[in-house]
Amino acid sequence: MTPHCPRCGAALPARPPVTCTACGYDTFLNPRPSGGVVIVDDGRFLALQRAREPQAGQWELPGGFCGGWEHPADAAVREAREELGVIVMLGDFLGMYLTEYRYQDETLPVLDCFWLARIIAGTIALDPAEATDYRWLPLADAPPLAFRSMDAAIKACLQVV
Ligand SMILES: [Zn+2]
Repeated sequence: MTPHCPRCGAALPARPPVTCTACGYDTFLNPRPSGGVVIVDDGRFLALQRAREPQAGQWELPGGFCGGWEHPADAAVREAREELGVIVMLGDFLGMYLTEYRYQDETLPVLDCFWLARIIAGTIALDPAEATDYRWLPLADAPPLAFRSMDAAIKACLQVV
């Protein structure tokens, strides 16, 4: 699949980062930020079973990509509301992790940012388009999650709870 210049539509001489030879427009390849939450209760954390590719069927943390100019912390709160139907309050920032996201025959760099969180309002009601099930899993004996950034966030979580 040949990448094309987003400004003039000409075929680019290579994958970004590259300069368009037709119009001079610089294209970049930057990680896409996401915000996610580790909702902790009594030594356990809330995991969702992914409904969608990539990694459908695997356990993950609630979260998702930032939209436009959205701050990752705001994305984390919004995603928890959309995926779980609850309002969360963020606690400690756990860390940010550069990882890869394979989707639509591309591998893209992603910068996943995670916060500790607790539910302050609402009862859990999953969005079936996003998750097929949820489970409280033990923090100290967590299974491998859908993305390795999530495993790192769980490790970071163990240092602060
Ligand atoms: Zn161009």
